[in-house]
Amino acid sequence: MVLERSQQLTQHPQAHYINNRTMEVFRGLPGLADQVAACSPPLEQWRRFVYCEAMAAGLLLGEVNHFPGQTTAQDPAVSPEPVTHLSQHRLLPLLLQQAQRLSAAHGGCADIRFGSAVTAVSNQTARRGSADGGSGAQQLVRCSYLVAADGAHSGIRALLGIALQGQEALQHLMSIHFSCAALGRSLLQQQRPAMLYFVFNRQLVAVVVAHDLERGEFVAQVPYYPPLQSPADFTPEVCGQIVADAAGWSLAQLQASPAAAAAAAPVVAEEYCAWDGRVMLAGDAAHRFPPAGGFGMNTGIQDAHNLAWKLAALLSTYPTERRPVAQANAALSVSNWHEAVRVPQALGLDPQAAGLASRLASAAPLPAGVGRARRGSEHPAAAARGPAGDPGLGAELEAAVSQEDLGVAYQQGAVATEGAAMRDSAASGSGVGGSVSAGRGSPYVPSTEVGGRLPHCWLEMLGQDGQQQQLVSSLDLATASSLGLNMLLVCSGSEGACSSWMAGGQQLQQQGWPVKVLHILPQGSIVTQSGQSQDDGGPPEEFCVSNPEQLACLVCDE
Ligand SMILES: Cc1cc2nc3c(=O)[nH]c(=O)nc-3n(C[C@H](O)[C@H](O)[C@H](O)COP(=O)(O)OP(=O)(O)OC[C@H]3O[C@@H](n4cnc5c(N)ncnc54)[C@H](O)[C@@H]3O)c2cc1C
Repeated sequence: MVLERSQQLTQHPQAHYINNRTMEVFRGLPGLADQVAACSPPLEQWRRFVYCEAMAAGLLLGEVNHFPGQTTAQDPAVSPEPVTHLSQHRLLPLLLQQAQRLSAAHGGCADIRFGSAVTAVSNQTARRGSADGGSGAQQLVRCSYLVAADGAHSGIRALLGIALQGQEALQHLMSIHFSCAALGRSLLQQQRPAMLYFVFNRQLVAVVVAHDLERGEFVAQVPYYPPLQSPADFTPEVCGQIVADAAGWSLAQLQASPAAAAAAAPVVAEEYCAWDGRVMLAGDAAHRFPPAGGFGMNTGIQDAHNLAWKLAALLSTYPTERRPVAQANAALSVSNWHEAVRVPQALGLDPQAAGLASRLASAAPLPAGVGRARRGSEHPAAAARGPAGDPGLGAELEAAVSQEDLGVAYQQGAVATEGAAMRDSAASGSGVGGSVSAGRGSPYVPSTEVGGRLPHCWLEMLGQDGQQQQLVSSLDLATASSLGLNMLLVCSGSEGACSSWMAGGQQLQQQGWPVKVLHILPQGSIVTQSGQSQDDGGPPEEFCVSNPEQLACLVCDE
């Protein structure tokens, strides 16, 4: 049963960047990854970050192309899926349809209810307050497990008394959703399309996310400084002026929605489970990151992927595996954040200094401006430009499309035991419980480390006649099928060398274990069990077992 308090899915765009690993999770569901990629705008419209005086007017201070030399957002060497840019409010209907379709195909196993809020939980019972017909009727729901995915202000987390650990807010931000089809068209015509616009002018400093240029849908994020300022200062008139100043566009043509406040604070719940593992936190209820690197929605979806196959048996390993990932992503988002604020710092617009000034001034009765930048004697744009011909700071900003999501390896949990973790960490020089990915900006290095994602490689599936039937990713082979658990056993090397492993796998199949057995020949082709291959009698190169989350569970090499 899924209980959603709202009557309908959110209309706010929110998240927009979908990383490789999330797309790989979608690939495991029928047609979903293709649908998401098809709904994403063309790469040309979102490959850049633009640094400018205003989106559609004034100086262009710099730009960073995050996909240099690429015509698509896919790096086929590391993943069978591209990263994508699709707003959360357009993604959610696709996920809901998918859940409804899968449910229908499995006897209506999912009961998804809108307008139904969880109002109380107890370790004997969970209560659901129904908003049906506005009656506010209470209904008692008994369940074996409860996944609290009720967002950053999780009421269930509060009811359980679970605290958040982390840093105080790096910044307080207001998000203003606005639309203007003419602005989107103009940016495309001016050849100034971008995913993010970092705007610096005498009126404000803002980051504007271009969710969809063709539809003209944007979200402007501007800092505010409590206690001098508060969300109440962001009246419709103030929001309208902010988006007009950020866009460099006529106020009359812009439609701004009420603003939403959020704190850019990296925090992780100190416990992921309560009541002997029967209540679990997932998504923003378990972690929150500053908006730098697109970790929020992606980490939440990957929590759900981890939980989904474990609900059957292995729930106790959920916090052991996923909490360190949230901690690592919190650290990554903080370093991304510091990278992003280098530009305003270079312009003399240090957000931390502004925060300090706000705190110092809070005792004094100063009039509070909203989302305003420091008024300097020099035009801020001048500081970002280098000498003639020098592209300035934009040229040295790091590309933000990273592959940290692919390098995540659980060091303890369902597949990596403490012993394996200690052995692996000794080999890699990292500590147990330390970083679960290689860190910001590190290139992804494919590996079959136990607890890590199985590396992607393209494989030709051969029919009995030895002809190619299908081109698949190694990850496709480890995907759970028909909502059931399965394990993948892969043996690579010559046929003779692998024969005893293959026979063992086939025996497991005969005993009813959900095991797929595959043999990868040295030249990279899979031969079906009755297929022929050359046999040089050498030892197997590698033997690997993977679980439904596409993680390497057991690896034996020569
Ligand atoms: C402006 C903005 C930009 C962002 N950009 C990105 C990005 O590019 N990439 C990224 O990965 N993330 C991004 N994020 C973060 C991302 O939106 C969140 O991490 C994500 O929405 C979290 O999903 P969730 O399901 O955990 O929580 P939510 O999306 O908050 O959903 C929680 C749901 O629970 C419901 N609910 C609450 N209480 C109850 C109750 N008692 N009973 C029943 N239902 C309840 C709520 O109505 C809500 O629908 C962004 C966020 C914002 C605000």
